[in-house]
Amino acid sequence: MKLENMDKIVSLCKARGFVFPGSEIYGGFANTRDFGPVGVELKNNVKRTWWKRFVQEDPNTYGVDAAILMNPRVWDASGHTASFSDPKMDCKSCKTRHRADNLIEDYNVKHGISMAVDAMTNEEMEKYISEHNIKCPKCGNSNFTEIKQFKLMFETHRGVVEGDTDVVYLRPETAQGEYVNFLNVQRTARAKVPFAIAQIGKSFRNEITPGNFLFRTIEFEQMELQNFCKDENSMETYEKFKAKALEFVKDLGLREEKLRFHDHDKLAHYAKAACDIQYLFPIGWQELNGIHHRSTWDLSRHQEYSGKNMLYLDPVTNEKFLPTIIEYSIGADRLTLALLCEAYDEEQLENGETRVVMHFHPAIAPYKVAVLPLQKNLSEKAKEVFAFLSKDFMCDYDEAGSIGKRYRREDEIGTPFCVTIDFDTLENDTVTIRDRDTMEQIRLPISNLSDYIAKKIRF
Ligand code: ATP
Repeated sequence: MKLENMDKIVSLCKARGFVFPGSEIYGGFANTRDFGPVGVELKNNVKRTWWKRFVQEDPNTYGVDAAILMNPRVWDASGHTASFSDPKMDCKSCKTRHRADNLIEDYNVKHGISMAVDAMTNEEMEKYISEHNIKCPKCGNSNFTEIKQFKLMFETHRGVVEGDTDVVYLRPETAQGEYVNFLNVQRTARAKVPFAIAQIGKSFRNEITPGNFLFRTIEFEQMELQNFCKDENSMETYEKFKAKALEFVKDLGLREEKLRFHDHDKLAHYAKAACDIQYLFPIGWQELNGIHHRSTWDLSRHQEYSGKNMLYLDPVTNEKFLPTIIEYSIGADRLTLALLCEAYDEEQLENGETRVVMHFHPAIAPYKVAVLPLQKNLSEKAKEVFAFLSKDFMCDYDEAGSIGKRYRREDEIGTPFCVTIDFDTLENDTVTIRDRDTMEQIRLPISNLSDYIAKKIRF
């Protein structure tokens, strides 16, 4: 079904324990979110499937988990201290803050205009906003300040003596953790170019524009990898990762017609190519992940700033060179949001009721199976089945309310299988297992359940 906006997702997420507003009892904290009991399972499963596809199944990819706080020189080398900023404008009437490029993009989407906003200078954006009389989304006036660059990195301080502390930054991207460990990983894994280093971890950005739920938050997780290759093979690697990235999100259940590639209009001076995969969110086409050709820029900058030789020695040709990097990066929270939007469905049942069901791929569903005793006096047997199945799978257990209501609750959190314990179970150790999508039920021996479920949830 088509979602008109994010409201239904936001309220389902809050009501069923996927995602809560951050620090809610204090009135919240803008653009932060807390994952609840089913949300944490969903997001962990998203991260697991990603790691499986990109690290476990690729013999030439190696994982790291680098520190969030890095030597501040890293951010000088990467260019973030000098230029990681967004063009900000304040509304003089209602004092809200906006990103100039986002104001233009939103206006263009509304008016069916297609143009390269990311290639515009600040002066061009100011002119466009004034000529088109673009209004503040909060108060409706068109009364903005000039554009100023707004720094996106969060600063904190390290040190114990007051007045003698050093500025450190919360990392705004995970990628630098792979670049600085390029030689450590290459040496210890005896890796040969081409190879990749992957990481999943938190990043922090002092974003100007309000969030659209999980789409843009100030603290989020990235799942990304850096491919190190020879320059002559770099475009081939770039194309390979475009295809692999698309295949991954399609396999997770995002429909092809809601996915598209978007080439960047403005390339960094060192880049040969860059594109995003966009997904049709209820707020329109938006970036889901990025694939960037970064040439030898990152390693050469770290070589220059650290004074350490970052050259790779080819063991066959004895050639020494800096590998070219193809970066692939996707937000775990943003992908989780896309999967929530895609999974949401309202079905009209024959009895006139509406069934809300989350059609998650079983591999990412928070619970794989719910164990439901038909009546309370069957709970002893049901708990035995729960104890047995929970060794293999994340299981829910529910004995409260009518069986129909319990099925609905499981549908709303996307549980692919419900196992019902009835009086026959006591006689012959068989149960019914109900499929979330078809609502069909079959009878199986308890001893066959694990194999049956394991096959269905494989990714
Ligand atoms: P955007 O243009 O949306 O700000 P970006 O181009 O700055 O994103 P990258 O730096 O390429 O994004 O980050 C890689 C991925 O990390 C993005 O494709 C997105 O999925 C995710 N991401 C980036 N910023 C945020 C954020 N503030 N909240 C949630 N996810 C984010």
